Amino acid sequence: MEKGKLALKLLGGIALVFLIVTVFNSLVIKSKQPVPHPTNIVINKDEAVQHLSKAITYKTVSYQDRSKFDFKEFEKFIAFLHETFPNVYERLEFEKVNDYALVFKWKGSDASKNPIGLTSHYDVVPVLSGTESKWEQDPFSGAVVDGKIWGRGTLDDKIGVIGILQAVDYLLSEGFKPERDIYLMFGFDEEIGGDEGANAIVDTLKDRGITFDYVLDEGGAIVENMVPGVSQPVGVVGISEKGSATAKLTIEGSGGHSSQPKDHTNIGRISSAIAKLEETQFNGDLRGPGEDLFEFVAPEMSFGMKYVFANKGIFEPLIEKILLRQPASAALIRTTIAPTIFQAGEQYNALPEKATAFINLRLMPGDSLAGVKSFIEKTIDDDDIKVTITGNEASKVSSIKGWQFTSIQQAARNVYGNAVVAPYLMFAGSDARQYDRISSNTYRFLPVQITSEDLNRMHGTNEQISVENYLRAIQFYAEVIKEANS
Ligand SMILES: [Zn+2]
Repeated sequence: MEKGKLALKLLGGIALVFLIVTVFNSLVIKSKQPVPHPTNIVINKDEAVQHLSKAITYKTVSYQDRSKFDFKEFEKFIAFLHETFPNVYERLEFEKVNDYALVFKWKGSDASKNPIGLTSHYDVVPVLSGTESKWEQDPFSGAVVDGKIWGRGTLDDKIGVIGILQAVDYLLSEGFKPERDIYLMFGFDEEIGGDEGANAIVDTLKDRGITFDYVLDEGGAIVENMVPGVSQPVGVVGISEKGSATAKLTIEGSGGHSSQPKDHTNIGRISSAIAKLEETQFNGDLRGPGEDLFEFVAPEMSFGMKYVFANKGIFEPLIEKILLRQPASAALIRTTIAPTIFQAGEQYNALPEKATAFINLRLMPGDSLAGVKSFIEKTIDDDDIKVTITGNEASKVSSIKGWQFTSIQQAARNVYGNAVVAPYLMFAGSDARQYDRISSNTYRFLPVQITSEDLNRMHGTNEQISVENYLRAIQFYAEVIKEANS
């Protein structure tokens, strides 16, 4: 009796200590958001709107088939930039790389400091055939209706090109002088991989021995209701992008007539291999940029969520379980498996000699192609199925500790006030990956506050941006250049 009571008391004591420690943890968890210094940059609205609107009218469309590029439109766009930003062309050094990629260098006063680079691209994806009539405004009209600018490139990513140039134009007019060199680099084939644009720019600058402290590219935006338990909008800055690879599974032999099949046919065996992979999945592990994201948003969360994340060490298995429930959050913590092509059979009464499946994989930073291949082989456990893998591993992970990340965060806070700005892992690819070769850090951030509906409009129908957001993007770029000075 006495012993039981003692044990109960002891348990109660442990529970109390646990509660005190964990509550304490969630109370002392400190915000990682810098105090905003509200921007005092005033942009000439009519002029700026007219510039983006006009930029949209050039059909600088990227096609997988490079022979389809209409380079006349690219030339016209480049001429338009020159006419529109005479001061920028006069005061900055300008060159073309591979005829259509554009590089500006704004010389700084202090050669001992490494440069930073702002990059974007002016090619846009085609309008999907069959969707033309669904556009409320012509996709290449640049129409300004109801306080919004419409068309391809308003989000992805002429807003970046024009926004950066507007910002530099503004700073020049204010007499601003950078300390470190500022490079503006605009690609023309990002949508098909950036091989001749960003890649060529990087080759050129690498030859000159230029290394950046950071390069900022398009990427995550500021979105409301993105993170449960956070009432403010959250802006996410990509500090890495996942790798993209394709595994090919092939089995050959043992065809024959369908009247006397073996128990396990080629189609059956490939199907079973895929089923095993889907059932097993790669391990979900909250680490790297995904973990960083939660470290940055946790202090801003409601108490319940803060409690869980402040005691991540204890609740990690639970957090991972929750994150794995939704595809979008699952992709943040594991390498994903997506079977995309299945090829087998030609005739309804003949067993196929060969069956092939393609699986698209998005790799977490740290997961190697070789490791992923051997995971697949081990999981499917069928020696007759040949596995090959091609593609890229994840990009390197940029730092969130130095002035580089903080200055981007500060610039975003100066413009967007209460928005929480956090690092994250990008699932999609961008030109930023190319800059890894010459930059200590690459960040991926589109400085606009948009809805998830807007996100679907990128590469989709009715791409648009509000004038207000566009002006804030310009302010952001000006702020980020100023922050790199301080
Ligand atoms: Zn883009």
